[in-house]
Amino acid sequence: MKITIIGGGIVGLATAYALIEKYPTFEVIILEKETDVAKHQTGNNSGVVHSGIYYKPGSLKAKNCVEGKKKLLDFCDLYDVPYQQCQKVLVASRHEELPTLQELKRRGEANGVLVEELSQEELREVEPHAAGLKALLVPQCQIIDYTRVANALAQAIQEKGGTIHTGEKVSHLHFSFPHWTIETSKKTEMCNFIINCAGLYCDKIAKMALPDKQLPCKILPFRGEYYLLQKQELVKGLIYPVPNPKLPFLGVHLTRMIDGSVEAGPNAVLATAREGYTKSDFVWRETAETLTYPGFWKLSRKYWKTGVYEMYRSLSKKAFTKSLNRLVPAIQMDDLVPGGSGVRAQAVLPNGRLVDDFLILQDDYSMHVLNAPSPAATSSLSIGQTIVKKLDFEEWKQTLFLQKGLAETASPLQSVP
Ligand SMILES: Cc1cc2nc3c(=O)[nH]c(=O)nc-3n(C[C@H](O)[C@H](O)[C@H](O)COP(=O)(O)OP(=O)(O)OC[C@H]3O[C@@H](n4cnc5c(N)ncnc54)[C@H](O)[C@@H]3O)c2cc1C
Repeated sequence: MKITIIGGGIVGLATAYALIEKYPTFEVIILEKETDVAKHQTGNNSGVVHSGIYYKPGSLKAKNCVEGKKKLLDFCDLYDVPYQQCQKVLVASRHEELPTLQELKRRGEANGVLVEELSQEELREVEPHAAGLKALLVPQCQIIDYTRVANALAQAIQEKGGTIHTGEKVSHLHFSFPHWTIETSKKTEMCNFIINCAGLYCDKIAKMALPDKQLPCKILPFRGEYYLLQKQELVKGLIYPVPNPKLPFLGVHLTRMIDGSVEAGPNAVLATAREGYTKSDFVWRETAETLTYPGFWKLSRKYWKTGVYEMYRSLSKKAFTKSLNRLVPAIQMDDLVPGGSGVRAQAVLPNGRLVDDFLILQDDYSMHVLNAPSPAATSSLSIGQTIVKKLDFEEWKQTLFLQKGLAETASPLQSVP
């Protein structure tokens, strides 16, 4: 049995790792277009191991975040990947945010996360420079470098017999029972099952694999830009605002990184290229695809004010500083220097709704991770196991022969619960 995973980000790597653990005799191959793993979302994020406070109890995000965090820390202990303990505060700076703060406390507790309520004075004991009306404290948080996690996963996969081909961009997929033919930028190869973990290009890969099927969503790229805070002494751990409950983004926050630096951000600006890390990155075809997608216009109609403000804040350091001042009033414009950026792969439905939860679809011969935004890095090892549990290859082998000649009647795409 040969299984090919498309995408060498943390989700693809964690899936390969789980596959090899469960099916050590299978041939497991990862195809990654870049020269190394973790070059996109996995290598350009905030480096926070999320605790699970934000997510609706019972959602895939909640289950996989809480489970994934434990698995991630165990993996790091086993493979000597460093991480640091730190405290996180979620700060309500306006009266209208207080109900959402309460809801987050309720969600956190329902998800089994240790959460404490803080008054203004108590907040200052934890983060002496933070200000707010009220806050929540998550005392058991961690910060980590996800590129190091990805590299450790890559090494473990290869030690256990898996193969990672970098510099191989998948350009064409064709299924003819019982094999997939995969064309890459280097060669053509065959396999029995594909798992699509292509992040910013997951919908493109799904369309390549299933040209006759209607996909439920499209990926829109949202760039998150960071500044580096030079007065690092103003932030001890992680300082987050209360997020807008209607959006899946957490709002610009202050994050102490594992290397000791402090990042401020990320904002959320629609990017004009799927891998558009700077304002000037522009891919005409990708921008045209966004602009001709009905879901984009419906989303814009709903959130045009937020979108315009995000663009303004992206251009105005003063506006960015003002957002941070709601959390830490002492930060001044001169304390901030430009940092890096990351691009989120956010699935959007044709009706303009942003897909909030993780979304994984499967049919008989393929599986597609179509929405794995934050906290997917935290959750990756659990997502990998969820995918592998769903793939009952014993049953698959039996039905393979029954279905011979009936491949075109393969069952429709189903959501993985
Ligand atoms: C700004 C930002 C901050 C974030 N902060 C956090 C955080 O603090 N904590 C957290 O848990 N999560 C965070 N996230 C989310 C997290 O980083 C992602 O959810 C996670 O990395 C997704 O991993 P992935 O493997 O699905 O995608 P990716 O890491 O993007 O990997 C997909 C891979 O597929 C490859 N690929 C694409 N097309 C092809 C092709 N045709 N052929 C071969 N390979 C292909 C790409 O090159 C890429 O390497 C953040 C994300 C962003 C953008």
